[in-house]
Amino acid sequence: MKHIGAHVSASGGVENAPLNAAHIKADAFALFTKNQRQWVSAPLTAKSIALFKERCLAQGITADYILPHDSYLINLGSPEVEGQAKSQAAFIDEMQRCEQLGLTMLNFHPGSHLNKISIQECLDKIADNINKALSVTNGVTAVIENTAGQGSNVGNRLEEIRYIIDRIDDKSRVGVCLDTCHFYSAGYDIVNNYDGVFDEFEKTIGFEYLRGIHLNDTKKPIASRVDRHETIGNGLLGMDFFKRFMNDKRFDNIPIILETPDESRWADEIALLRDMEGR
Ligand SMILES: [Zn+2]
Ligand SMILES: [Zn+2]
Repeated sequence: MKHIGAHVSASGGVENAPLNAAHIKADAFALFTKNQRQWVSAPLTAKSIALFKERCLAQGITADYILPHDSYLINLGSPEVEGQAKSQAAFIDEMQRCEQLGLTMLNFHPGSHLNKISIQECLDKIADNINKALSVTNGVTAVIENTAGQGSNVGNRLEEIRYIIDRIDDKSRVGVCLDTCHFYSAGYDIVNNYDGVFDEFEKTIGFEYLRGIHLNDTKKPIASRVDRHETIGNGLLGMDFFKRFMNDKRFDNIPIILETPDESRWADEIALLRDMEGR
């Protein structure tokens, strides 16, 4: 069975995220556990943590279907000393927040080389930082998201993600989140070569590492390397892709998260997708 939700607002406190998920009839959700545009946020309060857990329980949404996303400022592959130090500290803080909330995954964009180091050096730094964060935390899996390859972002090629996974000491605590908009923009033709692309995913990474999906349509053409999400059905992926996806058992039992631009449409998009399952 598919579990679908969206990246909901946690404005006013993380405890509001499960309520926002309930409003759109989601049975999965993503959230930021701190302000995503600041390096440092106040610690989570005991009250906030207790309410968050209580409300997730009330909605029947377990940690398996909650995919927190880290701050946009963090660059684990930063070529700069200061950027490295700040990113590493902030990433560990994000993992600890997940631990406090009883969450088991942290989704993040791998990093950017900023045109100062090679892709390989950048990937090595990312792997080092993941290993460090895993060594000082417990029970949270680092979930690497594929990128569109915009600017100097790494992680648009499946081989690059595999390269990072190969260097993680504890393979049980590393996973992948596949963003369908990014995947297409990076050059993977999930519209015309669905089977071929997912066979390649299986060969290069393996579905056992797949821990979540960002289900987004895209405004930009294949291989454009431009990251512009679109509402389901209004972009270039087309309804046939979404029907096929919704009936593909390989995507059962993981959080499927909409990051589509018009949040007033999320409830309708979720209903539309659920309606495709089993048809
Ligand atoms: Zn995404
Ligand atoms: Zn994106």
